[in-house]
Amino acid sequence: MRRAVVLLSGGLDSCVAASEAQHRGFRLHALSIDYGQRHARELQAARDVARALGAEHRTVRVDLAALGGSALTDQAIAVPQDRDAHVMAADIPPTYVPARNTVFLSIAAGWAEVLDADAVFIGANAVDYSGYPDCRPEYLRAFEEAARLGTRRGIEGRAIRIEAPLVHLSKAGIVHLGLERKAPLHLTWSCYLGGRKQCGRCDSCRLRRKGFREAGLEDPVGYEA
Ligand SMILES: [Zn+2]
Repeated sequence: MRRAVVLLSGGLDSCVAASEAQHRGFRLHALSIDYGQRHARELQAARDVARALGAEHRTVRVDLAALGGSALTDQAIAVPQDRDAHVMAADIPPTYVPARNTVFLSIAAGWAEVLDADAVFIGANAVDYSGYPDCRPEYLRAFEEAARLGTRRGIEGRAIRIEAPLVHLSKAGIVHLGLERKAPLHLTWSCYLGGRKQCGRCDSCRLRRKGFREAGLEDPVGYEA
């Protein structure tokens, strides 16, 4: 059976990307990164999602909080609240973590080599949140080329593919695909804050809610506000 490494953050998108990888016939090896994010709630969600999917799961620690520079890794930078989608998309938000996907994909490609996996799946999405430069298709293609040049598998002619099945989907489209694939959406956590419930006000919560609303479905995970 072909193997795939799946980057699993615990959020909605990576859960659907993992379910899509499974649907395409891959045996899943889920990878979560404990990067010094504001809260551990999403890492617990990632463990729960991996278990529900029957995937091997590993968490690797990389302390990006030592660098800071993001509202997600520096408590002194505020997480924006109550912003409309067009405001979110207007510029690169303070929740952007410098070079995060490059770091994550590099670790995922390394594990893929160890496992002899053919692909790395990432839930990157360029439609609803175009503010993140490392979620764009041109970036992902360029990383795939870098991984081809920089790995043993690439040199041997068996380059690791970087698969981003959600990259062109709207949030509502992601919710629909998740339902089709029977993804365990009820176990996910999208909020940037680590409260008892999702806050409902940060960019991530607002995009998630908008996605469920536009899909005409109830979000199985509740909110404070
Ligand atoms: Zn939130």
